[in-house]
Amino acid sequence: MGLIVQKFGGSSVKDAEHIMNVADIITKTYSDGNSVVVVVSAQGDTTDELLEKASEINPKASKREMDVLLSTGEQISISLLSMAIEKLGYPVTSLTGWQAGFITDSTHGNSRIKRIEKERLVNELDKKNIVIVAGFQGINAYDDITTLGRGGSDTSAVAIAAVLHADLCQIYTDVDGVYTADPRIVPKAKKLDEISFDEMLELASQGAQILHTRSVEMAKKYGVNLEVLSSLTRRPGTKIKEDVSVEKLLIKGVAKDDNIARLSVVGVQDVPGIAFKIFSQLAAKKVNVDIILQSVGRDNKKDISFTVSTSQKDEALEVLDSIKNIIKPDEIVADEEVAKLSIVGAGMLANPGVAAGMFEALSDAGINIQMISTSEIKISVLIDKKDTRKAIAAIHDKFIV
Ligand code: ADP
Ligand code: ASP
Ligand code: MG
Repeated sequence: MGLIVQKFGGSSVKDAEHIMNVADIITKTYSDGNSVVVVVSAQGDTTDELLEKASEINPKASKREMDVLLSTGEQISISLLSMAIEKLGYPVTSLTGWQAGFITDSTHGNSRIKRIEKERLVNELDKKNIVIVAGFQGINAYDDITTLGRGGSDTSAVAIAAVLHADLCQIYTDVDGVYTADPRIVPKAKKLDEISFDEMLELASQGAQILHTRSVEMAKKYGVNLEVLSSLTRRPGTKIKEDVSVEKLLIKGVAKDDNIARLSVVGVQDVPGIAFKIFSQLAAKKVNVDIILQSVGRDNKKDISFTVSTSQKDEALEVLDSIKNIIKPDEIVADEEVAKLSIVGAGMLANPGVAAGMFEALSDAGINIQMISTSEIKISVLIDKKDTRKAIAAIHDKFIV
């Protein structure tokens, strides 16, 4: 008995039948004597459909109005799920993000939670209500609706678990745990019984969309007991925790991110200060840069390439354009036909054979590497997007199966 936060993703509530299934899981947990707070996402592909509707009317709509629109998806889910629980005869209240006290910073579209004013949540729990909270949304200091970025409901759930000191935060989804690679791409991928926060953080930030990156960061920071499991199979899932028993498996997983673009500034002067100009301007415009590669200078010229997420490609190009007269490149090239593949596992740098093995697997598969980046816990390569599936399979075969 305790306090359990349960989060259900879009596929788990996609239609009436799925909503009744979820209501069943929630009310069973409540009947076992637990207090239950539920966070729910928009049904099925609702968020994508809302994005589509907006682009039909105004592809350059303001981020403020996009948030007003996108937050409606989750509001539909909380009411329908609450109705299902009412039907089963249990006490329930639905709350939007702002009713539940989610205060965010002022950035629209990718807001960060600043705090949760938890009085309402606590009051509802005191009244023995099951509380159903809309994920992915909050309100900023100007009383405007904000959203937390794609996949952000996971972060809503972990944030509630953190402020309420929940005993457990369960993320229910359409696969029964965290796998060594996306099981939809690599059918041979293996389910992990447990994974450390650091490894999960790296997998998520390298593109494994199973968990929102910030949810893992927050779970680590506040020591939230986190579990990923399926809403359909009712089998044990994957536990994410601080320390994981040492296993033979060094590589925990392979992740891909194909929502990225490579920008190259070709033929800039080989003098001090150029990289500073480029990256300080990008930082000032809040463009997140990932892998950076600078060529060795030749004939007083050099090339600088870097990757950004596709959603920030245009902003990055605008920045480069605005400093064209200062950095004087021969040309600026953008390529979206790229993907980043990463292998993740603790102690990567201490095992030099891992990088060699990854490059060998790619070479055997005839795949060219455009950029490389390494850290203590991951090795990433940039490749041609069309090679993604082949590359994941080759790397997975090499290290995991
Ligand atoms: P939800 O709607 O429940 O939030 P998501 O679509 O955001 O679900 O995340 C679940 C999906 O994540 C799975 O269907 C799977 O295709 C994908 N995925 C990517 N990498 C992994 C991984 N390493 N392990 C499990 N699932 C993964
Ligand atoms: N509905 C939002 C999305 O599709 C948030 C979420 O599902 O976590 O990104
Ligand atoms: Mg998700």
